[in-house]
Formats: sequence, structure tokens, C-alpha cells
Amino acid sequence: MEHLAFIGLGNMGGPMAINLVKAGYAVSGFDVSASTLEYFAVNGGRAAGSVEDAIEGATVIISMLPAGRHVEGLYQGENGLFAKLKPDTLVIDCSTIAAHTARTVGAAAQAAGIRFIDAPVSGGTAGAAAGTLTFMVGGTAANVAAAQPLFARMGKNVFHAGDIGAGQTAKACNNMLLGILMAGTAEALALGVKNGLDPAVLSEIMGKSSGRNWALELYNPWPGVMENVPASRDYSGGFMSELMLKDLGLAEETALQSHAANPMGALARNLFEQHVAAGNGKLDFSSIVNYFRQ
Ligand code: NAD
Repeated sequence: MEHLAFIGLGNMGGPMAINLVKAGYAVSGFDVSASTLEYFAVNGGRAAGSVEDAIEGATVIISMLPAGRHVEGLYQGENGLFAKLKPDTLVIDCSTIAAHTARTVGAAAQAAGIRFIDAPVSGGTAGAAAGTLTFMVGGTAANVAAAQPLFARMGKNVFHAGDIGAGQTAKACNNMLLGILMAGTAEALALGVKNGLDPAVLSEIMGKSSGRNWALELYNPWPGVMENVPASRDYSGGFMSELMLKDLGLAEETALQSHAANPMGALARNLFEQHVAAGNGKLDFSSIVNYFRQ
């Protein structure tokens, strides 16, 4: 089996890396957080002491980091991995970052003879744990094909969206829509409750009507309506509001660069901006419902 290095073992990277371990791959993981490293080791992974230690002997590097600056910091510059990896190493960046950053990092990889693809995911922490993520991938067909066996262990659907950066563009469009849908679902539920409806009954009605959507049916933001979603555990352990704010910012950046209008996305970004500024950044993004309940 191939030897893999996995950098960034947080809410998403941790379970993704553990699924690769379960599939029999030798995975060396590294994270700057000691507790995530320990969780990885308890689940059978090899906890590396540094990035350099993790990449030793690895033919594939996977990264799952918070934002573009972390990805650039990991790979580029004098101390970046592109200066240390063997030519032809396959680098799969699963972080959600700007398409233009992915293209810049991809160009630096190419200059160093490294194969690079961007492969952001959708499906949340539950999808990461269950191995049912959707991968939106940008890069050459040959590089995407080389990563397929790994995607198959971490996800269910893989879409080759185009050249490097195309995966990130698809992800920005999807998450802009998700942010709009979550804010809209929260607003509709709060309106119903304010007018005497039971949130569970209203959710059922809308779930069988034309207002049905993913946020309502699989990730309901109202506490107690659905089990096993962040709303029923004080908005912990999901997709943090500050990450949704980041993604809505990426969509806006993409819209500005391409001279596209994104009024709904901009409104959702403003709502999450206020929500995060009020101290809710670490809470799951479905906590936006509290904005409408107050
Ligand atoms: P997270 O904060 O839980 O995990 C990120 C990890 O990266 C942390 O453990 C952090 O310590 C580590 N890290 C940061 N800099 C590092 C470095 N230089 N070297 C090694 N480790 C480093 O975040 P997450 O929820 O796992 O999200 C990761 C990425 O996945 C983000 O880009 C996010 O937008 C995206 N994403 C998240 C979800 C979700 O539901 N949480 C869903 C889809 C996509």
C-alpha cells in the first residue's frame, strides 16, 4: 500500500485520515494541535512530530487546512513542502480556499515538478466520518484519476470540474447556496414559531412542500427538531459559522473578479458577519437561527 501524509487533522481531516487508515493505507498525520494528533494516533494513525517527519517516504500528500494562507504557508516559499518533496509526488489539497490561490499554489507545484489537484469537499463532519463526502476536483485528468482510489475511501461522489481551481469555484457556488438556504430556512422557521407553529410540525410541512431543502431536511437549525445535528447539541461539532463566513467571502471574491452579481450571497455574508461578530464564530453555522429568534 502507498504511504500517505495527511496534514491538518481537525473536524474534517481527522475522520478523513482515519478512513484511509481503516482502508489499510500507512498514513502519517501532522497537525499543529496536540489533541487532534492524539485522536489520530488512538485511531491507528501514525502521529508525526513535524511536517517533515510526516512526508518522509510519502508518495501522496493530502492537506485539509482552514484557509488559503495556511495552504500557501505549507507548500510555498523556501521552507515550503514544494522545495522538499520528490518530483512527481501527488499533492491533493482538500481545504476550501480561493480558486485563484489554488491556481497560484498549483503553478508553484508545477514549477517544482509536483502533481497538484484541488479537491474541496462537501458533506460536513458526518460525511467525513461516514466516508460519504462529495469531492469537487480541479486538475489534469491523469492526476484526478491517480487520486480516485483515495477519494473512494473518503467519499461517495467525485466530480472533475475542470482545470486547477475549478473544484474551488464549484465549492464556492455550492456553499454560497448553502449559506443562503440555511439563513432562509432559519428565517422561515422563526417566523412560523413566532406565529404559534411548532417548529417540528412546520419542518415536516415544508419538507413535503416546495420549500424543502438540505438545511431543512438534513441539518435542521431548530433545537430538538432533529437528532444528531449540531442544533441538538448546542451547535457544537459541525461546520463553524466563521468557516461559512469565509466561504461566503470566497463566493463574493469570485463574483467580484468575474463581474457577476451575487446579491443573495452578499446578504447571507452580511448576516453571518454580524453573527460571527456577536461571538458565535465557533458555533455551527445553523446557529444563525438565533439571529432570527432574538
Ligand atoms: P478545523 O479547524 O477543525 O481543522 C483544521 C486543522 O488544521 C486544525 O486541527 C488545525 O490545528 C490544523 N492546522 C492549521 N494550520 C496547520 C499547519 N500549518 N500544519 C498542520 N496543521 C495545521 O477545520 P475543519 O472543519 O476541519 O475544516 C478544514 C477545511 O475544510 C476548511 O477549509 C473548511 O472550510 C473545509 N470544510 C469544512 C467542513 C465542515 O463541515 N467542518 C465541510 C466542508 C469543508
